[in-house]
Amino acid sequence: MKKLFIVLICVGMVAGIGIGGFMMLQTLGQEQGQEQTRQEQKQPKYSTRESVFADANPSLSEAEVKKRVAMNLDQEPYTSAAEVKDPDSITVLVNQYNTLPSDYMPEDLDVVVQDEQGVIALRKEAADAYRALEAEAKENQVDLRIMTAFIPYDSIQASYEELKKAHGEAAVDASFSRPGSSEYQTGLSADIQIGEGENAQQNIAQNEQYAWLLDRLPAHGFIVRYPEDKAVYTQMNGQPWHIRYVGKDAAQAMTKDGLCLEEYALR
Ligand SMILES: [Zn+2]
Repeated sequence: MKKLFIVLICVGMVAGIGIGGFMMLQTLGQEQGQEQTRQEQKQPKYSTRESVFADANPSLSEAEVKKRVAMNLDQEPYTSAAEVKDPDSITVLVNQYNTLPSDYMPEDLDVVVQDEQGVIALRKEAADAYRALEAEAKENQVDLRIMTAFIPYDSIQASYEELKKAHGEAAVDASFSRPGSSEYQTGLSADIQIGEGENAQQNIAQNEQYAWLLDRLPAHGFIVRYPEDKAVYTQMNGQPWHIRYVGKDAAQAMTKDGLCLEEYALR
């Protein structure tokens, strides 16, 4: 009876260890499996450029790495620029990585202002949209003025060289586009101000009527091209006075989703 008891205990122990061990192994296996899946999910599928950029910018999320590389932000500005395929497109993206041919000239320029200081012109569709915006502004006692619009390549080049001499390349690149990368050549961009006065343009965002203007821009097909909070994508300092015509659909979509043109172009 004693022997049988011992045998039973031994059988019980063996069975116990066996079952316990099996369960432990099973749990371990499951955990390893889960760990593996987790790592597979975590491991970003990067291209070579994305990998290099991710290593250099460890704080960026996978989505952000892919987004910035898609914008070519892993490349030095102006070093790997490609000519835009459709310079006449209303939503054309012109920047440090996407350039206009030096001989590009819009064919449908339309004079918006002509005075003793010269001519201010935009492409027809943008000019019509600007006139409608300005008329609506006047109705609302907002003294909106257009100061600069289309500039041909050669003049942009001359200004760029002059500014570079005066302020140095880095300072100029932060707020002035190099020839070929300048939106002024598209005939879709304008610098505006409210009222007159020396700093009316520079300080437009502090004007109490600027909020009205911001609110009405998208309905007329315009966006603020270089918002301060998008400088990481535009690589330009904030320019609240620089508006760009992209058409009503794009302007409203970009405003609704909080996108700058660089982000919109990735869609
Ligand atoms: Zn401007």
